[in-house]
Amino acid sequence: MRGVARLGTVLLACTLAWPVQAWGPLGHAIIAQLAQRQLGADAHAEVLRLLAATHAESLAAVSSWADAIQDDPAERALWQRTRRQHYVDFRDPTCEFEPALDCRGGQCVVAGIEHYVAVLADRSQSDAARAEALKFVVHFVGDIHQPLHAGYRDDRGGNTWQVRFDGRGSNLHRVWDSGLLASRGLAAPAYARLLEAQPEAQPQAVAGADAAAYARWAEESCRITAGPGFYPQTRRIGAGYVRAERPVAEQRLRLAGRRLAAILDAALVNDMPRRYQHPPSGRLRSHRPSS
Ligand SMILES: [Zn+2]
Repeated sequence: MRGVARLGTVLLACTLAWPVQAWGPLGHAIIAQLAQRQLGADAHAEVLRLLAATHAESLAAVSSWADAIQDDPAERALWQRTRRQHYVDFRDPTCEFEPALDCRGGQCVVAGIEHYVAVLADRSQSDAARAEALKFVVHFVGDIHQPLHAGYRDDRGGNTWQVRFDGRGSNLHRVWDSGLLASRGLAAPAYARLLEAQPEAQPQAVAGADAAAYARWAEESCRITAGPGFYPQTRRIGAGYVRAERPVAEQRLRLAGRRLAAILDAALVNDMPRRYQHPPSGRLRSHRPSS
């Protein structure tokens, strides 16, 4: 009986993959907006052409589509196939991405970005397939920059870390998804302009648009969650936490916007190196030198 009970627990744990919202619609829209304004003219024209196939006019308008399909019966299979590509679970606070351990079967956000960037860059694919890929890329590049989408603790990305925020019961994941950003009281266009007006903390960190770069972005997110103060000392999250952590969240939005623009420029205009055109989905190679 104990064996059966334990099997039941394991099955339950497997079914309960953690809910994937990542940045709420506000965070995703800000990132998309930042990226769209930085695109080169040719990439921008191609983005608008692909978006027109989905009756959308901006990247922000489609930036949460990859989350929204979970409520659309017509997209059930697509959701099931992609839902584990919104995040990556690291094994420990060293946050070193090892594909064989952290991304089995290509089921993590690093592989999700790699796969859909390749579809987007592939001119032999239909416009419909490339437009769908564009929507996933816009979303997953946002997700990978939400620190709790690449955490190492056994708390389903902070979803089981209960807190009180703004006078209500919440959890750390939700605070990072939306609470910190909503505390500005700004809609996405104004928020994006505010961020653009601020000096950039890490402009040098943008470079790279390949699987090794995506892995590094996930590792950055993980290390933020492993840093001092990220997990609050008390369950009540107050103004001090917002003051300390909101700038971190906003820096991630800016980096995500810059990197998304760089990916889209590379995939839509510049010829991506051949190896990115058809990645062996689910068989990411380790980017670490073996020693
Ligand atoms: Zn997501």
